[in-house]
Amino acid sequence: MTIVDNSITLSKSELPQKWRNILPLLPTPLGPYRAPDGSDIPPAALGAIFPAQLIDQEFSPSEWVDIPEPVLEAYARWRPTPLVRARSLEAALKVRSKIYFKNESLSPSGSHKSNTALAQAYYNQAAGIARLATETGAGQWGTALSIAARHFNLAIRVYMVKVSLEQKPYRKTIMSLMGAEVLSSPSQLTQAGRAALAQDPQTPGSLGLAISEAVEEAASRPDTNYSLGSVLNHVLLHQTIIGLEVKKQLASIGQKPDYLIACHGGGSNFGGLVCPFVPEVLAGEKIQLLAAEPAACPSLTQGVYGYDYGDMAKLTPLMPMYSLGADFVPPAIHAGGLRYHGASPIVSALIKDGLAKAETVTAMEAFNRAKLFANTEYLVPAPESSHALALTCQKALDLEEAGTPGVLVFVLSGHGLLDLAAYEAAPRP
Ligand SMILES: *Cc1c(COP(=O)(O)O)cnc(C)c1O
Repeated sequence: MTIVDNSITLSKSELPQKWRNILPLLPTPLGPYRAPDGSDIPPAALGAIFPAQLIDQEFSPSEWVDIPEPVLEAYARWRPTPLVRARSLEAALKVRSKIYFKNESLSPSGSHKSNTALAQAYYNQAAGIARLATETGAGQWGTALSIAARHFNLAIRVYMVKVSLEQKPYRKTIMSLMGAEVLSSPSQLTQAGRAALAQDPQTPGSLGLAISEAVEEAASRPDTNYSLGSVLNHVLLHQTIIGLEVKKQLASIGQKPDYLIACHGGGSNFGGLVCPFVPEVLAGEKIQLLAAEPAACPSLTQGVYGYDYGDMAKLTPLMPMYSLGADFVPPAIHAGGLRYHGASPIVSALIKDGLAKAETVTAMEAFNRAKLFANTEYLVPAPESSHALALTCQKALDLEEAGTPGVLVFVLSGHGLLDLAAYEAAPRP
């Protein structure tokens, strides 16, 4: 018998050695970051919380950026990740389209966040920084950065959104195991946290508020820098390793994508998948770049494009992006990683210029498709990734109805093995 191999793998020697930077390719250049009075913020001002090399990357004019050797070595522990043909899912949906998923759940943290966590920890260590402060929503970012801090010998404190800490206590267990200090946000340790608690002692917290706490701490301690798991240009840059590998993998089987789909919280796994394909889109190739966002927190489809803060206490610079407003507290949906009021400036620019699109997915649609995926591919997707999965299924069904099957690729941004409480809480038929 012939055994069908559904997994398109790359050898270690095919691991991309450079990240792709599309800042210089954007049709409308990104506006500068701004201060509350409307004045431009000089990049050097970010030096209070970020190392110089990450600030350079944030505004880099180079189309390609070398991946430092220590980061490549760390990547090689699990990268390149497989691109997998979801044949059983295709069969269950009765579609002729080819559906592939890029399996980012195989990283040490179980999500794509390790791609940027390791890079950020490396640059901070190289700059002589001893400690990192960060926030985490669902816990994946905190887990990824805790592992990266362990790898590059940094101390770390994680402000974890209160509702997520209650929903996902085992995330804290992993972070603590790695040596991180994990606090429930809002906390009593920062002005931003105390103010939020004074206003509403029962607040579930939010990513925007947890960011305020971590930024406040980093800005007030010279030995401590801040690290952000999404949104910023340098984070998307590091995540382009995803799309660069997908490109090589599709080329190796002679396929071109019709749809590239990822869920959108702050935009990093979506940007990481699609940015390497932007040159083709600019050249007129018909590749649909599609972001799946939760109906409960629809920054790209319902938000306003303009300058807004990245956090609730308005400590971050104003950034040009789609936003629901910095004080928007998203409902406590299970896809905690998608509970963010804003969006990456790069993704926002792609959408504004018509190069990418966004659609919403309800929590129920995401859960139903997660169940189908578990029952066919035998993997439990993260609730966040289930949004990308659900939109992919929808597009495959639409293509079937139109009689035009195609090639769809989505990012399985993480596994759901630490999100089982969300699965327990889901409504049953
Ligand atoms: C954080 C996270 C997301 C959302 O963040 P993006 O920056 O939009 O990618 C999606 N999926 C998983 C598994 C995550 O951990």
